[in-house]
Amino acid sequence: MALSGLKIQKLLPRTNCKECGSNTCLAFAMKLAAKKAELAACPYASDEAKRVLGAAAEPPVRGVKLGPDGGLKLGEETVLYRHERSFVSPTALAVDLDETLPEAQIEATLAAIRDYAIDRVGDVYGVDMVSITQRGSRPEQFVALAKRAWERCGKPLVLRSADPQALTRAALAVKGSGSLIAGVTDDNADALWPVAQQSGHALGVTAADLDGLVVLTRRLLEAGCQDLIMELPSLSLAERLQLASIARRAALEGGVKPLGLPHIAFLEGDDLLDLAVTATTEICKYGGIVVLPRFDASLLAAMLTLRLNIFTDPQKPIQVEPGLYPIVEPGPDSPVFVTTNFSLTYFLVSGELENSGLSAWLLVPECEGMSVLTAWAAGKFSGAHIARFAKSIEIEDKVQGRTIVIPGLVAQISGELEETMPGWQVLVGPQQAADLEGFIKTRFG
Ligand code: SF4
Repeated sequence: MALSGLKIQKLLPRTNCKECGSNTCLAFAMKLAAKKAELAACPYASDEAKRVLGAAAEPPVRGVKLGPDGGLKLGEETVLYRHERSFVSPTALAVDLDETLPEAQIEATLAAIRDYAIDRVGDVYGVDMVSITQRGSRPEQFVALAKRAWERCGKPLVLRSADPQALTRAALAVKGSGSLIAGVTDDNADALWPVAQQSGHALGVTAADLDGLVVLTRRLLEAGCQDLIMELPSLSLAERLQLASIARRAALEGGVKPLGLPHIAFLEGDDLLDLAVTATTEICKYGGIVVLPRFDASLLAAMLTLRLNIFTDPQKPIQVEPGLYPIVEPGPDSPVFVTTNFSLTYFLVSGELENSGLSAWLLVPECEGMSVLTAWAAGKFSGAHIARFAKSIEIEDKVQGRTIVIPGLVAQISGELEETMPGWQVLVGPQQAADLEGFIKTRFG
């Protein structure tokens, strides 16, 4: 839990020696509380202060890294609501397979999982994990499918079986994949933890209720098991949402470490709408891993888009790199259009320009990710600002044409832009990107 400045001050030497750069220990403590300083700046901090502040600095939801290089990060959340700061580790999406499925279906699903990719504002997303569940009675087929899924997709697995022997064999067969051994209970935890350690996997623990989970996770944490994920009891959606909220609140506000773990949810059923509702609830409310029961591109696209929204810092707009972007193979005489570096604005404008078929340049100055009117109101999209940026990228060496089109929403900057970019003809474009095509037909026909 976060400590107040006054509580931190009590842990400091209180000599006000100023060596940390602050005038008093209290001032330094306030900086520590606001995370604007490091305790290391005080050479006289006691071991007790280091221990207490170190523990307080740990995120209340434990971080777990999956994947061969630990690249799939879960947990490390510090807030209950994203508007308080932001959620940091996007919910991992997995697709489930079992060894009893027809061979053609297994093959097609593995290929679909491996190849699925969706582009959202310049970043590419796909399926994060493959879940392998043993549903038949032949463990060797389960183990073989786990191995095949790892080799075909190269993604960490969720291994799930009621048979600890089969889980052990599968875990060892995909050693180094940074996978998750799921369905671990109080009965088999002692047998499966050494397997997880030996093969570099995490443990997914479960129990009949939240109390049972607390007992089990506490026991494993105290024994030194670091990479833990919990599976909440299988209840109705409403009850599970309630449990997830209780667990997260207990971890964040009550400091209950055994509940400060990412959780995994296995979705079931065939109804696409039901699956979408459940997955949406999990993504919005604390789901660490959501296992979809089958591959469905439309469901994945919707959930990845939702995830992108939920796990984006609400205080930081998504931006594209400032620069001069070519549209439809422009030449030196092609006109230049201007917009801001707010991703949504950029993709709308560039998309409409591409649709028009006009060869053009798109000039995108640094506007701190603000939309056109907001950037203009903040003084980041004035004529002088655009001219300065154009000069900084030496636009006149790249473009010999001297036509520049500004968004209609900021028609008032045209005079200033003409003054600061002498020799350029400034045209005022439409207010909405959707009207660019008509504007282009009229002006550049
Ligand atoms: S260096 Fe340590 S003891 Fe000195 S003023 Fe800063 S916090 Fe206090």
